[in-house]
Amino acid sequence: MEEKPKCPVCEWSPNPGKHWNCLECGVDMDHFDNVARCSNCGYTHELTYCPEHLGGCGQSSAHMDWYGNFDRKLREIDIFNL
Ligand SMILES: [Zn+2]
Ligand SMILES: [Zn+2]
Repeated sequence: MEEKPKCPVCEWSPNPGKHWNCLECGVDMDHFDNVARCSNCGYTHELTYCPEHLGGCGQSSAHMDWYGNFDRKLREIDIFNL
């Protein structure tokens, strides 16, 4: 079973790509490339926007909620304290 992140509100699932902008430095980034951490400035996004122009619902949800059942594994890595 593939563990693909999806929007907890509408279940839209992103294809890999820089669909988001970093809130801190504005660079194009993929929230699912590095667990919402900007590779340019290191800012970690706690919320991830569901892009309406790609078919999403436009809601922002906690980034961890996008991982559904396998979020526990990510929490163990404790990415917000890096
Ligand atoms: Zn940044
Ligand atoms: Zn959505």
